[in-house]
Amino acid sequence: MDPSGKNHVAEALQMVRARIARSEQDAGRLPGSVQLVCVTKTKSADDIMPALEAGEQIFGENRVQEAQKKWPDLRSRFPRIELHLIGPLQTNKVREAVAVFDVIETLDRPRLAEALAKELQTTDRRPELYIEVNTGREPQKAGILPEDADDFIAFCRETCALPVTGLMCIPPADEQASPHFALLSTIARRNGLTKLSMGMSADYELGVQLGATHVRVGSAIFGARPDPAKST
Ligand SMILES: *Cc1c(COP(=O)(O)O)cnc(C)c1O
Repeated sequence: MDPSGKNHVAEALQMVRARIARSEQDAGRLPGSVQLVCVTKTKSADDIMPALEAGEQIFGENRVQEAQKKWPDLRSRFPRIELHLIGPLQTNKVREAVAVFDVIETLDRPRLAEALAKELQTTDRRPELYIEVNTGREPQKAGILPEDADDFIAFCRETCALPVTGLMCIPPADEQASPHFALLSTIARRNGLTKLSMGMSADYELGVQLGATHVRVGSAIFGARPDPAKST
């Protein structure tokens, strides 16, 4: 047996896919309406390979530099990869982030919106942008506060002309996720945003039930990460 090796990843991935499919069905949603973002932070190219070989194309990383190191090489072998940034973005990393990511899920403040708008004037790349909402109003966590979300969405779209298409949230670890997912969905609906990134290893089925278009699943596929303190 090889609990953290190739077979394990392939099997765990099958299980996650099956659970997503069942949740779609239970919720009366179309098969394939939820996209799995395989979260590969801290994992090596070797760790990731079984997921690529199984046909996965959407991956999430939380650090710009880690993604820059890991993905160009994998992309040259699997050209259809779609890479999502799911961790905080500093304004001084905007250029690198726009160059390497296809979706940036963590747009969360006006200065970052302005920096992205400026960068988009200098490049043909057009990453899709999701706004991160701090639904739990946690002081240590990134994301725009729920009560500021409508204004911030308008600022991004109108003032900065940014291609914002969705919302993302990370509910507080010690709370039921469902009210947070419901709140995110409400904010998206009233602003005409169609993408909802919500649900991780512990609660992706709930995310599917409550309307997620993307669930971000790491440890349920690739196993526990080495240092939890560095992984969030
Ligand atoms: C690490 C991470 C995930 C995946 O977490 P798991 O619990 O391992 O599935 C999802 N979203 C974000 C923003 C993360 O940082």
